[in-house]
Formats: sequence, structure tokens, C-alpha cells
Amino acid sequence: MNDSFKVGVVGSGYVGLVTGACLASLGNTVTCVDVDEERVEGLRNGVMPIYEPSLEEMVARRYGDGSLSFATGLPEVVREADIVFIAVNTPPDDNGSADLSNVADVARAIGASLAVVERESPLVVVNKSTVPVGSGDYVSMLIREGAEDADVGYRVVSNPEFLREGSAVYDSFYPDRIVLGADSRDALDVMRDLYKPVIEQSFPTEMDPRPKTAVPFVTTDLASAEMIKYAANAFLATKISFINEVATICDLVGADVNNVAAGIGLDGRIGPRFLNAGIGWGGSCFPKDVAALRSIAREYDYEPAILDAAVTVNERQRRQVITKLQRELRTLKGKRVALLGLAFKPNTDDLREAPSLEIAKKLDALGARVVGYDPVAGKAAAATEPSLKVVFDMYEALAGAHAAVVVTEWEEVRSLDLEKAASLMEEPRLLVDGRNLFDPASAERSGLSYRGFGRRGA
Ligand code: NAD
Repeated sequence: MNDSFKVGVVGSGYVGLVTGACLASLGNTVTCVDVDEERVEGLRNGVMPIYEPSLEEMVARRYGDGSLSFATGLPEVVREADIVFIAVNTPPDDNGSADLSNVADVARAIGASLAVVERESPLVVVNKSTVPVGSGDYVSMLIREGAEDADVGYRVVSNPEFLREGSAVYDSFYPDRIVLGADSRDALDVMRDLYKPVIEQSFPTEMDPRPKTAVPFVTTDLASAEMIKYAANAFLATKISFINEVATICDLVGADVNNVAAGIGLDGRIGPRFLNAGIGWGGSCFPKDVAALRSIAREYDYEPAILDAAVTVNERQRRQVITKLQRELRTLKGKRVALLGLAFKPNTDDLREAPSLEIAKKLDALGARVVGYDPVAGKAAAATEPSLKVVFDMYEALAGAHAAVVVTEWEEVRSLDLEKAASLMEEPRLLVDGRNLFDPASAERSGLSYRGFGRRGA
């Protein structure tokens, strides 16, 4: 049994860089590979390509002690490594299915590298990218093709990633579970050894004072592991859409969805998490993974009615922001609207499928002036959405605004001084609370006109 491994991680983004840095922290020797030369050069010089809490310090420490390095080429990594992770992006293509071209490029390159290097044991190739069912076999085929029929030894494992942006490092050390799919017992044993410190929670850390409990370790076949990832994200997205539908009905009947969510969440079968009503889900995973699962279902001539409805409700939630603004401000032309929070969720700089960008674009088309603030993603948002005027102080965004929309529940946004906001804003001082953060009555007492999603009296 091995205590430490040589690991290659191909793709140095949210998943790859975090995985690489965490595995290096657990005593392995890791090389993170990326095609983006600028990104690799930056990482060697301490420039982080993404924002993720505590990642920068961890990368600096591991790069400093030599357990983490960065490269653009694969053959050297394939020669040395026991395990190579594929952690490249799999964006949606035009019909919603996952675009596997990056995964395919890496698989072929691994095959080509295997063909030119000498190795003693089979390479364990681990797919961490989110990919449709059957991709494990596809990757295996492409590795063989890349090797041009040379006799190469490798095993393919599926190891879907469940980390959440904003707490990716924490989630890597304290996952709810580790899922591994493979047809080879040997490869599963190697992976169990690699993850042993996490499964047994035996690594030294001061990060988390909770008593440590062993992490469940699920082993299954390749196809089921791939399906677990899509099913998990589709379920979470559907749970949010469900409570959003309940919120809309609460608005109609005069109930408060926050109280309803608290009441149903105490039922152990339902659970309290992912029951926050508001402007709905976005980000780099839910929209893409739900789209991919719908597309897979349709490939097999099945209409995924629940997934379709989850998407329809989500689109309605975004539209409701505009409707609420129109109802109170009447015409949006010439009105100033502040967006509080721009990243798709707190503690990240990720703007992929962020509701803020879509809302900004729509408001701009309707003639409003949109001013946005985000503690981290401001610069990137300004570069992505030209209609958005980005400022770097939350109260500057509110100054002179007729309405403010709470888009992302950053801690700073949660602690918004409502009275100060009201004093800076113009009539009608409308606060559209897209995350249901504030108490409607205190917001009204502070001089704001409050509109939440499914909030009583709002
Ligand atoms: P990302 O866009 O942040 O990073 C991907 C990296 O891969 C980029 O640096 C890119 O340059 C690199 N890359 C692309 N093609 C390459 C190639 N041929 N060779 C080497 N490098 C290449 O992506 P991400 O958010 O880390 O997501 C990676 C995968 O993990 C996706 O399939 C995603 O669905 C999945 N996932 C993401 C998250 C998340 O929260 N971001 C969570 C779970 C799973």
C-alpha cells in the first residue's frame, strides 16, 4: 500500500487547481497541467487564475515546498505519475449536451504520451470533469486511439466532483462522500489509498474543529458514477425550483415562504438546505448539468418532465425581478437600478450563468441605468457585460438609485445598513430582495419599499 502518490492533474481551474493543491497538502507530489500557458506562467509566479477562499495560501505553501508544480506538457507527467486526473471544462454545446472536446483532447494526448514513455505499472486515468454517461468508455477508446495501437497500460476511473465554489478547499477535505466508478478492482484500490487520509479524516489540520467522522466512500461502475453527478445537481436545482414555485404561490395566497421553508425543512425527509426562495439558480454547474441530463434523456426519446419544469420555473424567477421593478417603478427608462452582488454566488469570482448579467442586460434594454457592486467579481463583470457600470463600494452603487436588487448573498450584502441605503436612494427606494435576506417589516421601517419572493406583506 502506498502512502503517497505522484499525481498529474490536467486542467488548472476551480476543480483541477483545488484538487491538485489539496492532494499536495495531503503528502502527494502533484503536477497541475494546463494548455493555457499564461495561466501556468502566472501560477509559477504566484498569480491565481481564480478566487477561492484559502486557495492562494495553500498553493503558495505547496509550490514553495516543491510538492506542487505547474506544467504545460503531458509526456513527462504521464511518465512519472501513478494517477492522472482529467479536470478540464466541459461547457454546454448549442443543444445543451456537454461538449467533450477538451476531455477528448486530453485523453488522446494521454494515449500519445503513454505510447512514448516507459512505465512499470498501468496509469490510472481519473475523470473528474462532469461528463455524460458512457464517457469513461469513450475516454478509454480515445486513449487507445491516441496511442495508435501501441501496447499501453492504463485504467479509467470516474471520480465526479461535488465541491462547491466558494468553499471548494473545505469541501475537498470534508466531502459528504467520495464516489468512484471503475471496472477495475486494482484502480479502485489505488484510488482508495489516495483518498485514505480524507476517508479516514486522518490528516492533520486546524481548519475544522468538528469531531471527525469517516467520509462515505461509494464504489460503483463507470456509468453509475457518471450518473450520480448529474442526478445530484439536477436534484438540487429542482429543489430550488420547487421552493421558488411554492414562493410564487405564497405571494398569491399571502403566506411567507421563509416560514414555510423553515417548517418543511424540519421534516427529516426534506431537510432544511436548498430551500431558499429567490431569483433562482445559475453558475457554472447547475444550468449546464441540468441541460446535459435533459439532452441525454432526449437522445433516448424520453421527455424529462420534472427537469423541464425546473428550468421553466428558474427562467420565471429571473423574469420576476423585472416584473417587480416594473410594477413599482412603472417605466424603467431613466431609472437607476443597483445590483448588489454580481458573482453567481457568494465567495467566488465566477460569473458563468450569473443571474446578475442577464438581469443587467434586460434592464439596459428597457432603458434603465444599471450600477453593480461585488466584493470580488466587479472587474470581471465590467469586462463581461458592457451595459453594467461597476463601482467598488456598495453604498456608491446605492447612491441615487431608484431601486436596488439583492442578487448575491455575500456577507457584506447581508449586513447592508438598510437605513443608510434608504437615505442614499431616490424615491420610491425599492429593495427587490432576490435572496429573501431581509425582514420585510424592518426594511419598510428603514424607509425602503420592500419586495421579496413569496414574503408576507411584501
Ligand atoms: P475551469 O474552466 O475553471 O477550468 C478548466 C481548465 O482546463 C482551464 O484552465 C482550461 O485552460 C483547462 N483546459 C481546457 N482544455 C484543456 C486541455 N486540452 N489540456 C489542458 N488543460 C485544458 O473549469 P472547472 O470549473 O474547474 O470545471 C472542470 C470540470 O469539473 C467541468 O466538467 C465541471 O463541470 C466540473 N465541475 C465543476 C465544479 C465547479 O464548481 N466549478 C464542481 C464540480 C464539477
